[in-house]
Amino acid sequence: VFVCFEGGEGSGKSTQSKRLAEALRAQGYDVVLTFEPGDTEVGKALRQIVLSPETGELSDRTEALLYAADKAEHVDTVVQPALDRGAVVITDRYVDSALAYQGAGRTLAVEEVAPVMRWATHGLRPHLTVVLDLEPTAGLGRFEGRDRIEGESLEFHQRVREAFVRMAGADPEHYVVLDARDGVDDIAAAIRERVTPLLAQ
Ligand code: C5P
Repeated sequence: VFVCFEGGEGSGKSTQSKRLAEALRAQGYDVVLTFEPGDTEVGKALRQIVLSPETGELSDRTEALLYAADKAEHVDTVVQPALDRGAVVITDRYVDSALAYQGAGRTLAVEEVAPVMRWATHGLRPHLTVVLDLEPTAGLGRFEGRDRIEGESLEFHQRVREAFVRMAGADPEHYVVLDARDGVDDIAAAIRERVTPLLAQ
C-alpha cells in the first residue's frame, strides 16, 4: 500500500506522516516512511541544488527535471523495492508536488510536466493521497525565507494550493482533502479512517 502526503508549507505533512507510520507500526505493519525531495544519496545532492538560496535562478524546465531525477531515484531504489516486499510506503510529497510547484506554481502547463513525472516514476501511483489544505499565509509564516521556494510570491503559493485541491477534486476515490487547521488528533483519525480499508485488501 502506497500513501502520499501533499500540501503547502507548514501544513503538517511531516507530523501526520509520522503519526500514521507510528500507528501502523504499532499494529505490526512493515512501514517505510520517506520523503521527497532528498531521501536518497543522489536525492540529497539534488535537494541541495533545487532548494539552496545560493542556487539562484533556475530555468523552470531544469528545475522540473531535477525533481524528476529525484523521483526516479526514489521510486527505483526506495519506494518500489519496499512495495515489492509488501511494506506500507508513506511518502511526504510525491508527483503531485511537482505538478503543483513546477507546473501550476511556475506556470508550466501541468499537462506538460505530468508525462515527465509519469516517466520518472514508471507510472507508479499512490493508493491514497492525503492533501493537507491550508491558506498559504497561515503556513508560510512558520518558516519564512528558509529556502528558495518559501521566498516565492503569495500568488505562487496560492496557485500551488489550488492545484492540490483541483487534483483531489478530480479523483475523490484516490484523495482525501483535510483542513490543516483542524486538531492534530482529529486529522490523524480522519487519515486512519481512509487508510484502514486499504490495508485489508
Ligand atoms: O516538504 P519540504 O518542506 O521538505 O519541501 C521542501 C521545499 O521544497 C518546500 O519549500 C517545497 O515548497 C519545495 N518543493 C518544490 N517542488 C517540489 C517539492 C518540494 O518546490 N516538487
